[in-house]
Amino acid sequence: MEKKYCCTNTECTKEEKEVFVKVLNQESVMDDKNVAQMFCPRCKSRLTLCEDEHETAC
Ligand SMILES: [Zn+2]
Repeated sequence: MEKKYCCTNTECTKEEKEVFVKVLNQESVMDDKNVAQMFCPRCKSRLTLCEDEHETAC
């Protein structure tokens, strides 16, 4: 199972034309607290968990 983390910074999304998404395997997600501290390499905003691609698409 995979977990997807997205950059939700609208400024970042606008500049790059697409949302930055980081995909992690469930095995590498040992600690939710560590995951919560990932940042977008482009704008340094904190990445948030994408629950469902269909929801984030709109
Ligand atoms: Zn970003």
